[in-house]
This record gives sequence, C-alpha cells and structure tokens, in this order.
Amino acid sequence: MAHCPADSLIVEAGLRMTVDRHAILALFFQPRTWNAREIRVQTKTRTLSTVYRNLDILEKYGFIVPVLSLEEDIRYERALQPHHDHTQCEDCKSISCIPCPAKELDAHTLFLQSICQLCAKKS
Ligand SMILES: [Zn+2]
Ligand SMILES: [Zn+2]
Ligand SMILES: [Zn+2]
Repeated sequence: MAHCPADSLIVEAGLRMTVDRHAILALFFQPRTWNAREIRVQTKTRTLSTVYRNLDILEKYGFIVPVLSLEEDIRYERALQPHHDHTQCEDCKSISCIPCPAKELDAHTLFLQSICQLCAKKS
C-alpha cells in the first residue's frame, strides 16, 4: 500500500493494525468531523460497538479529540491540528472544519451553522 499517514500513526504507537482501525483512522485525515454512526457507514465496520471501541482507543492514544457539537453522539476529529473553526450543516448535521474566520479574536471556539456542499447540491 502507498504511504498512508494512518499506517504510520498506528505502527509508531505500537498498536495492532486491524482493517477496521486503519479504515477509521484514515477517515480522520479529511477536513471534517465524524460520529460513530457516520464512521460505520463509511467504513462498513460490522458493528457500532466495534466503532466505539476503536474510537476509545484512538482517543486514548491522542490521535483524535472530541469536537463541540449540539448532538448527543460524540464527534471527533484528528488531534493536534492548527487552530480552525467548525460549521455544522443544518440539514445533514455533519460538521466540517473551516479556516478561522475571526483571526482578530483571542482564544475562542466558534460554532457556525450553514448548508454543506453535498446538501447544497441536493436542493
Ligand atoms: Zn449537509
Ligand atoms: Zn476541525
Ligand atoms: Zn477561530
């Protein structure tokens, strides 16, 4: 397989490489956030509990962090990213990462709402 950033993280941490774990971590290299349900659909992981178990491990190892969200389901994104903000789609509720629109503000967390590109195309 070509060089994949998810591979290196898993190997360097000494974690066991499983198909599910690799597929889940690879998703987090996209500029968006994921909850367990979305991850299961994307990775075709057999059970939600497998997704939750892997998310637990990936968070414990510091690869992913929870993101502020208005949903009950925890959303995560890749850890250690430079400051940026988030916008939640009012339609499908997915949360994307966006460049900071308010650089003049000191430390802050912005939470915007909008319509994502996928939903904009649908209507
Ligand atoms: Zn949407
Ligand atoms: Zn983000
Ligand atoms: Zn910002």
